[in-house]
Amino acid sequence: MVGARALVLRPMDRPSISFAANGRRYRRPTRPTLAICADGTDPAYLDDALAHGSMPRLAEALDAGGTLTLGKAQVPTFTNPNNCCIVTGVSAATHGIAGNHYRSADGHEVQLTDPSALRAPTIYAEAERAGIPTLCVTAKDKLRRLLASGGVPAVSAENAHEQTLPELGGLSVAEHYGRPNPGIYDPELSSYAIDLALHLASELGAMLVYVSLTDYVQHAAGPGEPLARAFYEGFDERLGRALDGGWVVGFAADHGMNAKSRPDGSPEVRYLEPVLAAAGVAPFHVILPITDPYVAHHGALGSLAWVHVDASAIDIATEALAALPGVEAVLGRESAAEAFELPPDRIGDLVLLADRSTVLGTAADKHDLSGLHGRLRSHGGLHEQAVPIAVLNPLRPGAIEDRELRNRDLHDLLLNDVL
Ligand SMILES: [Zn+2]
Repeated sequence: MVGARALVLRPMDRPSISFAANGRRYRRPTRPTLAICADGTDPAYLDDALAHGSMPRLAEALDAGGTLTLGKAQVPTFTNPNNCCIVTGVSAATHGIAGNHYRSADGHEVQLTDPSALRAPTIYAEAERAGIPTLCVTAKDKLRRLLASGGVPAVSAENAHEQTLPELGGLSVAEHYGRPNPGIYDPELSSYAIDLALHLASELGAMLVYVSLTDYVQHAAGPGEPLARAFYEGFDERLGRALDGGWVVGFAADHGMNAKSRPDGSPEVRYLEPVLAAAGVAPFHVILPITDPYVAHHGALGSLAWVHVDASAIDIATEALAALPGVEAVLGRESAAEAFELPPDRIGDLVLLADRSTVLGTAADKHDLSGLHGRLRSHGGLHEQAVPIAVLNPLRPGAIEDRELRNRDLHDLLLNDVL
């Protein structure tokens, strides 16, 4: 009996073969695994890049059994909600990040960048808890604290010159890497984020790595334009380098991107505050959940808005807003929460969706459009919901058959379905 007892291993002595996050089990990675959020990568960019030979490594990987398919993003099709979907594996109804900011119960606008706003643990936090070394690198610093939630090592390329990790001996991340970080509106920032992640991952022995890029290029240039082609060439080179280094590699976009301008080049925008005022609605509060610290590339104009009004004004506000050309849907709070898997307490009394070529604003004098580079390209609505999901390593047969994929399934594919 004594001998038999001696053979019993305590759970902490042997790593389990899987870990759970938000009700889904993930296999412990046996190879280093890289998941990338290719910010603003509308499927049309990849179609163009593949047709013009700008992504030879992706093409080669697809020929060798890799997967490139379409999935759906979380609505609103903005960056923070979708990054949180990808890293938690669940919808915004569960993780709670419904926009880049929201109006709290006491009427204040709150940026959704604080980890306390996140209502579900990330896959990375759960992996760390299971003893799997992880790392998150985000191009834009606004996501860093959300990604760091649960003790995950997370740095941003934007602020790599002033951030450090305990393992780096007091040096800043950029100093340790030995390359200065580009500015927030430098087209090279995304490439730098991937390079930095691969460098740090090998230093730290990270086995599960997330890199979130920035959509500055996609806001500025459409598929086929030189800036976009150069971006995807650089992206492809890095995908190839990771594959050559033995990584399991995949990416998904947080949202697509569409042109939102008139033939004369000005933004196709509907300002909502004057419309509500003219209809006699008072009080009202229009929230544009695209608003973040980086407005030069989109002027805080996206294709979805929350509108807060008193219960007695719901009908008249709905009627006035629905009559606007370019507004394709006005939903009440509960219907929108149900239709799009949203947390009802973090959206508006009304949810407005604009059509493919229209964006929504508060009032003309509240948007600084001077920083826009050329014609407005933006996102946020239903027309940016189709996103590419790619796994460059072969998947087990049947892994994606009869499955309505979401970008939040990326880690399931990478950890559970790669052969
Ligand atoms: Zn984005």
